[in-house]
Amino acid sequence: MKPPGKKQTNRSRIYQLVYQAGSISRPEIALRLGISLPTAIQNVKCLQADGLLEEGDLLESTGGRKATAVHLSRNARFAVGVDITRNHLSVVLINLAADIVGSRRVKQRYEDNAAYYRQIVGLINEMIASAGIAPNKILGAGFSVPAILSENGRLLVYSRVLNVPVLHCSTISRGLAYESVMCNDANAAGIAELWRRKDLDNAVYLSLSNSVGGAILLHNELYSGENQRGGEFGHSTLVRDGRPCYCGRLGCMDAYCSAEVLSRHTGGCLPRFFEKLSSGDPAIAAVWDEYSGWLAVALNNIIASFDCKVILGGYLGEYLESRLDDIKRRVATLATFSGTEDYVTPCVYKKEASAVGAALLYVRSFLQSR
Ligand SMILES: [Zn+2]
Repeated sequence: MKPPGKKQTNRSRIYQLVYQAGSISRPEIALRLGISLPTAIQNVKCLQADGLLEEGDLLESTGGRKATAVHLSRNARFAVGVDITRNHLSVVLINLAADIVGSRRVKQRYEDNAAYYRQIVGLINEMIASAGIAPNKILGAGFSVPAILSENGRLLVYSRVLNVPVLHCSTISRGLAYESVMCNDANAAGIAELWRRKDLDNAVYLSLSNSVGGAILLHNELYSGENQRGGEFGHSTLVRDGRPCYCGRLGCMDAYCSAEVLSRHTGGCLPRFFEKLSSGDPAIAAVWDEYSGWLAVALNNIIASFDCKVILGGYLGEYLESRLDDIKRRVATLATFSGTEDYVTPCVYKKEASAVGAALLYVRSFLQSR
């Protein structure tokens, strides 16, 4: 999601405008927000005094006094994002501009016990300490999980991947000195992608990892449905009575489009699959041909439903950009409307999208509250 455009106080509007503009002069702020120049100057002064804005470069002038631009103080605050998957833990530290200032990924199988959660808290504290950031500059920690959550993100209510019946956010964060919240992994990744894509207000994020998920983002807001199950494209039915899905049903998209459908042909190693595909291995080429055919069917269905860009993400995201023309060609052969294939777009974050998105929850609420 993009920085918020919610109308609040002049101070808040100015802060959000500077965030969106990157660098802007005081007269331009006054003009764009329809406020007087003294009001703009006074509010910028307060935001500078709070360490949230910084003086920028001297701008070119067409006459009169030269104006300087102000820009965001990127490192005024930081947020932590943790991606919890079945076999790995990723921790990122981002600043207000969503720059990753620290990241660590460890191989660690998920276990619902105190030692596992202590490890998460330890990794977070270690990262903040090694970056030399004062604890009062940390806004909070977002936990990305492959699960259906309660609306407020405090309670996990369903996760076949983690195989845990119920989980409270406070259980993960016990001993952590910062606020925390959970977010569905695909939703978090979608939030991170849309934050970076200033050209998009609406998008579907398709997470093609070892399970398939997704996020629906409309007017820069996440649409998660009546029961937080929106965007679960992995369990849409692609083939009646088709292949078995891990959810227990038959023919789910997950059984045809997960990253595992490819990596199982190269001993679970996804990079190896694409190496062999590039080298022209005929057996691997046949697997890809079948896979991309099913992916095109799924993409055509999603585009026909939402009429907006579909971002290809998840583990497969980093490999699909170079295969985009092939995928688009396949979508074009299925589509009713011309140009449908151009809705398919690669992801910006090739790694750690979910962890960044979980951290962005805190950046977003900070920007809205200034
Ligand atoms: Zn399923």
